[in-house]
Amino acid sequence: MTQSEQFASDNYSGICPEALDYMLRANVGSAPAYGNDDWTQKAADAFRELFETDCEVFFVFNGTAANSLSLAALCQSYHSVICHETAHIETDECGAPEFASNGSKLLLAHGENGKLTPESIVAIATKRQDIHYPKPKVVSLTQATELGTLYSLDELAAIKAVSDQYQLKIHMDGARFANAVVASGHSPAELTWKVGVDVLCFCGTKNGMAVGEAILFFNRDLAEDFAYRCKQAGQLASKMRFISAPWLGLLETGAWLNNARHANDCAAYLEQQLAQIPGIRLMVPREVNGVFVEMPTAVIDCLKQQDWLFYTFIGVGGVRLMCSWNTTRDRIDELIRDIRRAVEAEPIEEDHIENRAIAPSLP
Ligand SMILES: *Cc1c(COP(=O)(O)O)cnc(C)c1O
Repeated sequence: MTQSEQFASDNYSGICPEALDYMLRANVGSAPAYGNDDWTQKAADAFRELFETDCEVFFVFNGTAANSLSLAALCQSYHSVICHETAHIETDECGAPEFASNGSKLLLAHGENGKLTPESIVAIATKRQDIHYPKPKVVSLTQATELGTLYSLDELAAIKAVSDQYQLKIHMDGARFANAVVASGHSPAELTWKVGVDVLCFCGTKNGMAVGEAILFFNRDLAEDFAYRCKQAGQLASKMRFISAPWLGLLETGAWLNNARHANDCAAYLEQQLAQIPGIRLMVPREVNGVFVEMPTAVIDCLKQQDWLFYTFIGVGGVRLMCSWNTTRDRIDELIRDIRRAVEAEPIEEDHIENRAIAPSLP
């Protein structure tokens, strides 16, 4: 059965043609197992070339594994990880980071638009210095954030400065790293190791792969014995080439950037259309491929009855609408049409009208 595109998440989309093409090419004949194949070697080299550095590269199945295993590599069980309160590692990984690290605690910081600030990090790093408190060891950033915003290079540099001051390592959740590269105009290197990121979890799934995440250790010392950790956690794919070949497809063809650019552009169009509907309020400035809006409950119910799928509990609440590599203009227009109809059928509350005017940033 064919499913219409939805706006729930970028992981609702299928496999993009380039990733599928390379997967099919890797399916010709046999190859050594457990990552000892040419595809895996080539994909790892492609990452080193793209990031302009000799990093250590590992491939795992998903983001939860990438985040929790890489954090575990940065922490002892008595350490802690400073992250934003809306961070995926806190809200959507079922305690996997604590589980994988045998107890490293996540310490939650606040900050506007899903972003940590130097002040929020320092507040936690200096809160306690005694033996009874889990020692802060890592700052975890999400780029782009769970609220679809971006850390600027200046913000990243400021976080690096306080991280050095308090001897904190930097982990980056790059579930939407490609979207951040496109939107920021900065290179992968500039957004990571050049501003002190020690390890990046780069998501392939949301960018157009069937499955797979790359873990890049820019600080190579931290990768010691990491392969054993992956294997023990059940994250060493024996037919590794079916993760690494599609990655090579995305990187070699440039599809990783085209997919992200398309998704970002679709979200910009969606935002622009939504901003014109009375009673709909943009909650966060859109910078990548997600739009967060507040709308009356009756409108949400009406959309759900028409089989529109979207999340209402991620990030700041409200409705999160995500675009992806395969989102189409037609499908956005259909959604906008149904939202307009639902809004027109409902009497609009005064405060919704007053609150609505956050001007969208047009691309
Ligand atoms: C999707 C996502 C992940 C990865 O989730 P998995 O379902 O484990 O692959 C990680 N971080 C963020 C911010 C995400 O949106």
